[in-house]
Amino acid sequence: MNGQAARPEPSSDTEAGSTALRQRAEAAVHAAAGALPSLDLPARALHAQGAEAALHELQVHQIELELQNEELRRTQQDLSEARARYFDLYDLAPMGLCSTDEHGLIREANMSLGRLLGRSSASLCGQKLEQFICCGDQDAYHRYRLQLGLPSAAPTCELRLCLEDGSMRWVQLQAVALLDARGQSQLRLALMDIDQRKRAEADSVLAASMFDHAGEGIMVTCAQGEIVAVNQAFTRITGYQAAEVLGRNPRLLNSGRHGPEFFAHMWSQLQREGSVQLDMWNRHKSGNLYAVTQTISAVRGTGGAIQNYVGLFSDITQLQEQEARLLRLNHYDPLTQLPNRLLLAERLQQAMAQAQLQGRLLAVVFLDLDGFKAVNDGHGHEVGDQMLIALAEAMSFTLREGDTLARLGGDEFVAVLGDLTSVAEAQPLLQHLLSASAQPLSVAGQSLQVSASLGVTFFPQDEEMDADQLLRQADQAMYQAKLAGKNRMHLFDAQHDRSVRGHHESLQGIAQALAAGEFVLHFQPKVDMVAGHVVGAEALIRWQHPQRGLLPPAVFLPVIEDHALAIELGEWVIDQALRQIAAWQSEGLVLPVSVNIGARQLQQVDFVERLQRLLARHAELAPGLLELEVLETSAIEDIAHVTRLIAECKALGVRFALDDFGTGYSSLTYLKRLPVAQLKIDQSFVRDMLDNPVDISILQGVIGMARAFGCEVIAEGVETVEHGAVLIQLGCHLAQGYGIARPMPAGDLPAWMAAWRPDTSWLAAAQVVAPPAG
Ligand code: C2E
Ligand code: MG
Ligand code: MG
Repeated sequence: MNGQAARPEPSSDTEAGSTALRQRAEAAVHAAAGALPSLDLPARALHAQGAEAALHELQVHQIELELQNEELRRTQQDLSEARARYFDLYDLAPMGLCSTDEHGLIREANMSLGRLLGRSSASLCGQKLEQFICCGDQDAYHRYRLQLGLPSAAPTCELRLCLEDGSMRWVQLQAVALLDARGQSQLRLALMDIDQRKRAEADSVLAASMFDHAGEGIMVTCAQGEIVAVNQAFTRITGYQAAEVLGRNPRLLNSGRHGPEFFAHMWSQLQREGSVQLDMWNRHKSGNLYAVTQTISAVRGTGGAIQNYVGLFSDITQLQEQEARLLRLNHYDPLTQLPNRLLLAERLQQAMAQAQLQGRLLAVVFLDLDGFKAVNDGHGHEVGDQMLIALAEAMSFTLREGDTLARLGGDEFVAVLGDLTSVAEAQPLLQHLLSASAQPLSVAGQSLQVSASLGVTFFPQDEEMDADQLLRQADQAMYQAKLAGKNRMHLFDAQHDRSVRGHHESLQGIAQALAAGEFVLHFQPKVDMVAGHVVGAEALIRWQHPQRGLLPPAVFLPVIEDHALAIELGEWVIDQALRQIAAWQSEGLVLPVSVNIGARQLQQVDFVERLQRLLARHAELAPGLLELEVLETSAIEDIAHVTRLIAECKALGVRFALDDFGTGYSSLTYLKRLPVAQLKIDQSFVRDMLDNPVDISILQGVIGMARAFGCEVIAEGVETVEHGAVLIQLGCHLAQGYGIARPMPAGDLPAWMAAWRPDTSWLAAAQVVAPPAG
């Protein structure tokens, strides 16, 4: 390209042309002379001859001129047609064209350039070309211009133009440097629109970089399933380089863990829905298995036929391992690796269902070690733990496949022995278990020995039984074994149990006892261990039995729990507690008292009215002196009702506490709805917390939760000073338990309160901790 439009040349054959012209003019004059009148006289003739010749010459010239004019006119027409053609070509060229002068000003520009810049071509004239070039590309343009004409010159340069609307467009620029007639330098420039190509290039660079740098492994196959592309993450996850897998089938990643039906399902979903999401195991090049979560999509061409499959996958092996670890943590005792209470409950349910189905017997064995406390106290917890591990192993060894040995916590275990045809068949198994627990074990370089007391019960029984009842029976039998001298087993006697229950704890007997005033309340103090004062007392019912002495509530409350008597007795407790508060108040002791409310009592529709009536009998008391404790389990049974009830009592000034908290597995959503003032952590977590780190975590969780819900938290079952100190460190200052005081008759409480002092170690513990919950 030279930048110059070719101009049409006029005819150059002038010599030949004028000869021909003259000949044509001569011929024309001769033809005209034949038509002139002739002259006879000689002088006239001579003169006439000269004039004639001159005329002839003139005529020839005139005609010659006319012909020349005609020729010129035609040439001019050709010329202007050629010029118009040239301008059309110039203006409509598929690229922007322009020339600049020695100052870089645009002299002329075609319409295409105007269109490229979003302006009219006329408006470009007199402007500097640079002003249309993006700032970032100005340097490149100057460098390009400077090297024009050098042998090593780049033929083109790519840069971005700034358009009128502020956008940018990529062009390829090609220039030629010339000297004009005055010897001044000029540039002829052509600018080709390459915007689409550049953007497509950028897109594909981006796509390629995303493909290569994606965290997920990517594998693309053709429709026939051969691998056509993989990325770097693919290599990282699978161990295969791209070259090793291109052209091969993804089958090479198969772990062998999934059967043909797995892949059949995958393919059918892929064909049906166009994509499939699945978790699967694959095999690494090294042979190891790894888990991936993977999405496979079918890519269809414009015709609709599948062209490729694209698989995106991430390695989730660690996640799966974590999940398995969590599952293990939830179901197994971390010390002995035996199933925990939760898994035991599941296994026991299964074993009961199976026993019923197969018509076989099932033995549930409650096992409590004898003398284990002495090992702990004498040799330290470390050795105690080793001992438990060794014992768990020794006892597990005696079990058959399918039997379960679980650790409930501390030194308590439960064995479930299934598939028995008779009670006698269980005997040797139980004997082995007993012997295993009593064998000397080598622990931490010394030989240690304990024994166990076993309580055994069987399933099915004449009465319908659930898993909890079975465990309670076995526990009761174990207690008998202990009483009988330990290191032995005791079989639960269902018949004897029934007769004892029937005789002593009949509904009628309890109703009579209530009428005879045989029930009494004992009071267990609740204290703030750090502030050092008594914050209240819990009223706990006892039966002062004329023959059997003081009976705990576990003996009689379960008998009446589904009966109207439970409500009557419950109201007696509230009334009695209010009387006691009033009596103390009159002596100058103002002490809040909490009362336990049974599930049935709580379900009453008119609970609040009845409570109001009871409160009205003691108008001298501030209602805030009465607190109500409901079991977490009964509160969530009918959450809507209990929520309303708690709110109504709150309006009366009566606070609620959630008792035995942690045993009901309440979800947070439930808890949030219950407007209780206090959470009372169940004593099972508190009791074992010094030995069991899991319990500490649970306590931390509950205390944190109480803080989040803005309610107080109190720990029950604080049996030692050490328990108290740890609770303080965890941020729980309120406590109740044998370590502080056992439940006592009302008359004993004022003296106890006067004498009580918090342990000095508690104050020290309080120095190192977070603020209390609540
Ligand atoms: P609770 O409401 O959780 O009461 C705490 C129980 O734990 C009481 O047993 C108490 O004596 C016992 N306890 C307190 N500190 C310790 C400790 O440090 N270690 C141990 N191992 N135990 C401790 P109690 O009096 O036998 O009451 C048992 C359950 O009977 C109560 O549990 C409560 O649910 C129910 N109960 C007691 N009195 C009443 C009542 O008047 N009405 C109703 N509905 N239920 C009652
Ligand atoms: Mg309670
Ligand atoms: Mg409790």
